[in-house]
Amino acid sequence: MEVTKELELCNLCALAAINDDTSGLPEAMVSAINEGLSRLGPHLVPSFDFDSGEGVGFGPQPCACCNSALWGARYLFATLA
Ligand SMILES: [Zn+2]
Repeated sequence: MEVTKELELCNLCALAAINDDTSGLPEAMVSAINEGLSRLGPHLVPSFDFDSGEGVGFGPQPCACCNSALWGARYLFATLA
């Protein structure tokens, strides 16, 4: 498997991608996340390290999944092929 693309996800999408957890989120948000995740495909993997903070950033750059441009945490993911 090779990394084909690196992308940044917001905290909500990161949680959904890793834990499959969208509980408590508004319906519109859940469908935006699910749509984004299915667009990104099944080979989406986390590329950040919580312990060292590597690959974890903050900023307003649009989330690659739900397209949210709200200021917040961004987690680095990669797609593999
Ligand atoms: Zn997002």
